[in-house]
Amino acid sequence: MRGKKSESRPTGGAVKRLIDNKWVKGLAPWVVHVFRADKLMKNVYNTRMRSIDFHVHLYPPEVIRDAEKISAREPYFDLLVHNRAHRWATVDDLLPRMERDNVERAVVGGFAFRDLGLCRLCNDYIIDCVKKHPDKLEGMCLVPPLARGAGEELLRCAEAGLVGVGELFPEGQGVDLSDISQTWRLAGVAHEARLFLLWHTAEPVGHEYAGKGNVGPKEAAAFCMHHPEVRVVFAHFGGGLWLYEQMPEMRLYLSNALYDLAAWPWLYESRVLAVIEAAGAAGKFLMGTDYPLLGSARYEKALAESGIGPEIAEQINRGNAAALLASLKSPANKEPPAP
Ligand SMILES: [Zn+2]
Repeated sequence: MRGKKSESRPTGGAVKRLIDNKWVKGLAPWVVHVFRADKLMKNVYNTRMRSIDFHVHLYPPEVIRDAEKISAREPYFDLLVHNRAHRWATVDDLLPRMERDNVERAVVGGFAFRDLGLCRLCNDYIIDCVKKHPDKLEGMCLVPPLARGAGEELLRCAEAGLVGVGELFPEGQGVDLSDISQTWRLAGVAHEARLFLLWHTAEPVGHEYAGKGNVGPKEAAAFCMHHPEVRVVFAHFGGGLWLYEQMPEMRLYLSNALYDLAAWPWLYESRVLAVIEAAGAAGKFLMGTDYPLLGSARYEKALAESGIGPEIAEQINRGNAAALLASLKSPANKEPPAP
């Protein structure tokens, strides 16, 4: 049989001699074994690192094209896009990156403009992306919270299938997160339309960076004390707000608050996650990369170095977000709230 097979192969003399060489014959099974082992390890690695990225920014092509013109009338946008760390991304950049980094779903939003028209442009783009890739993406809309027409826009986006609002920039959009007279309308519509809110927050101490802003745990806590019924995610560890969940009354006020890890590699040492786990707050953290500013690799490294176990890592990388998305999409969430 073997002889017959090799006769039928169109091998040249040199190739045939190589195949018949006893060293090559001896090595062949090992080469196959090594390749299989490599594939197996890759699968194990990928399974371990599967994630849901809860903090992603996408820009409509029109915004990228007209960035200079928009910068002239949007000071916060101007500050962020004219920064060394800034990157653009459209959905066509995101999808291959998700494949490469084993991101199972991404929760995507545009940019928090002061102008409702520009927010609408972003929202239309996000709605379109989610409609085209419902198996990969969940969408967030944006409004300037104090603008006339903001409520209608939120309802339009909720109707179109978006699940949240964000990332809202209190400082950039001129809204005081701690002032109930400024937040009640947004909170009311979000609660009514079953949308969660993702707020940009930052640590009140430490180094400065473009877009850090002056809104931290104190303002975020005030929002939750005023609107404890609203589901809210505070970006960038909530500027440290999670620590105050150690106070019984704050844990109660923060019942519907979650935190994301966005910009972790730039802000905290890896072991902060072990501290969070020890504080019993790991169940409230979501993986969020702030893509396109950062990809998954730096977070994977930080997770590996953090000292937390694989189960907690899976919870933060994926489980907590999956549970939140499932609850947002459950039919019970669509029911009117109990009187
Ligand atoms: Zn942010």
